[in-house]
Amino acid sequence: MGKVCAIFGGSRGIGKAVAELLAQKGCHLAIIGRNLEVAQTTAQSLGAGHLAIKCDVSSEQEVQSAFEEMQRNLGPINYLVNAAGINRDGLLLRVKTEDMVAQIHTNLLGTMFTCKAAVKSMIQQQGGAIVNIGSVVGLKGNSGQSVYSATKAGLVGFSRSLAKEVAKKQIRVNVVAPGFIHTEMTAHLEEDQLKQAILLGRFGEPREVAQAVVFLLESPYVTGSILVVDGGLHLMT
Ligand code: NDP
Repeated sequence: MGKVCAIFGGSRGIGKAVAELLAQKGCHLAIIGRNLEVAQTTAQSLGAGHLAIKCDVSSEQEVQSAFEEMQRNLGPINYLVNAAGINRDGLLLRVKTEDMVAQIHTNLLGTMFTCKAAVKSMIQQQGGAIVNIGSVVGLKGNSGQSVYSATKAGLVGFSRSLAKEVAKKQIRVNVVAPGFIHTEMTAHLEEDQLKQAILLGRFGEPREVAQAVVFLLESPYVTGSILVVDGGLHLMT
């Protein structure tokens, strides 16, 4: 039987690349995002038997409904990937309060909501694996990204603590911390300038992050880890 996996933010970018790898491995996927049409297009592109769900992770009620829909259509979940994220970059003095709140609600609180719902189901099955997508910025900090960085650093503390809480139930929790990856989130950046700070001399591809996510989902003796996937950026800055 293929594993059942929920991918929040699975409709585009890194989450979509994770979905593609897991579909190749025979998993049954729920592709979750705010834009249902985009999620449906992605789910259909993966082949038959996958589900698209409309859900804003910053709403606990919508997260709850998404898990109920998954349970009804796919059964209990084995894997959870949290790739839903936004950035509203700017120097702190210029960041609007609503943009601070939006980043905290989506990147941090949203992951707490999905993990809470997933852990409830995984405890009943005595097992499961969660990967939360952080960022190298959450480990190193970055000027112009203080709020985003705080949400990603928060994910590290949250994931490590949760790993301790649920290990006895055979549930593992890990973080992947990407550097600059080619997605819509980074499309506006000056790549030529930024890649000079990357050891491997280039931005990464979503599939290269997805490989790390799948590795952690499938590694039975890894929990509470932070896997940096940044082409060596963290050594340079
Ligand atoms: P994209 O912008 O390409 O994709 C973001 C995904 O998240 C989409 O599927 C989007 O769907 C979904 N999403 C956004 N907000 C919400 C929400 N409130 N509720 C549900 N789904 C939501 O981003 P990336 O693939 O680049 O980023 C994925 C993760 O990786 C993010 O957490 C990001 O912070 C992190 N990351 C990315 C890096 C990069 O260089 N690209 C570097 C480091 C970390 P929809 O809009 O339909 O809701």
